[in-house]
Amino acid sequence: MPQDTALPQLEQSSSGRPESSPRHLLGATPTVESTPSPVRSLYIHVPFCFHKCHYCDFYSIVDTQDRQAPFVERLSAELAAQSHLAGGAPLRTIFVGGGTPSLLRPELWKGLLATLAAQFDLSLIRADRGEFTVECNPETVTRELADILAAGGVTRVSMGAQSFHATHLKTLERWHQPDNVARALDIAARAGIARRSVDLIYAIPGQSIADLERDIDAAASLPVEHISAYNLTYEPNTAMTHRLKRGEFTPADEDLEADMFSLVGERLAARGYARYEVSNYAHAGAECRHNLAYWRQDQWLACGPSASGHARGIRWKNTPRLDDYLSRSDRGWAPTSEVEPRDARRAVRERIMTGLRLREGLPAEWLLSQSSLIAHDTEARVRRALERMSEQGLLSQREPAIVLSDSGVLIADALAARLMKLFV
Ligand code: SF4
Repeated sequence: MPQDTALPQLEQSSSGRPESSPRHLLGATPTVESTPSPVRSLYIHVPFCFHKCHYCDFYSIVDTQDRQAPFVERLSAELAAQSHLAGGAPLRTIFVGGGTPSLLRPELWKGLLATLAAQFDLSLIRADRGEFTVECNPETVTRELADILAAGGVTRVSMGAQSFHATHLKTLERWHQPDNVARALDIAARAGIARRSVDLIYAIPGQSIADLERDIDAAASLPVEHISAYNLTYEPNTAMTHRLKRGEFTPADEDLEADMFSLVGERLAARGYARYEVSNYAHAGAECRHNLAYWRQDQWLACGPSASGHARGIRWKNTPRLDDYLSRSDRGWAPTSEVEPRDARRAVRERIMTGLRLREGLPAEWLLSQSSLIAHDTEARVRRALERMSEQGLLSQREPAIVLSDSGVLIADALAARLMKLFV
């Protein structure tokens, strides 16, 4: 994405120029009277991959190795700049995503883990009362790397499997051997990384129901406590979307996609993985704590190019360009493509969008209490909208939480949009 197109949305500094980072909003040490709650989660984006998968719209560049060390050095400065927002409180969750974090060289991982330990209190994570996840590509996990991660406090790996069918991996231009998923998970387990997850993609062109059944069974047979399963989406400007436009394949139709979604839920449930978010399944207690922090609209720090953060009601997105990230620094803060100041209505809309996707639902009392932000009749309109959803069989409960039924989950985003428009 050309990040500079979003610059006009930035807050204006006293000089009248757009600020290049959210430091002016978040960099100050709060006064005693206004001490906000500390931020307890941290996301780090590692922007290197050894190949660009055709469906992917995450910011990543094909690694040339020579920029890994400058990246980690720059990242360390950014971590130091943001660390005061944790206020010395122990972090609950860290998630290192990308890109392919496991592509970073082992000695750089050692440096990064040492920086994290120096800048943040990791005691909760080390006591196994928090969570520290690293996303891995099956081809890049070695025993040396896994040992370094485990020694540095990593408690969880998320392995990109996507499919166990070589033909479908080829369709996605995903470069790994299906057998290496189990090998990589085994290495992580032997290193002492106790919590493990795999990602699947379904509705791949040419994938049949029987193919998907085999993928689900293969994933559920692995030593993993958590499985994410996303339907393939065609994001703008990805190679997959260009191929689709050129007519190189026929995408899965909506009915097949809906059947596949139901199949994933039913088959994983039978294997002990309960859906706790529209696309995420886990054994009891094995939900991804970091992602729950996002979906509950908690606060999190964000470092690395294209990383998005949320703290003290302010949202920001770092510029998705490694060159800018490396060359520009605002006292350690990265240049951003977006900074959104505090906005109570936006915060409600975001909570609706993510909360409705959760099996725990959205607290009904909270939602109704937010209605007073808008207009005197908003609460009545929200109640009416919920009643209609109930009558249509789209809710399984309305009190004390608003929870979607199985048919509601199928159109979760559309239902969220219905409620969100009441909070514009
Ligand atoms: S490995 Fe992940 S981040 Fe990298 S291109 Fe593939 S899907 Fe995108």
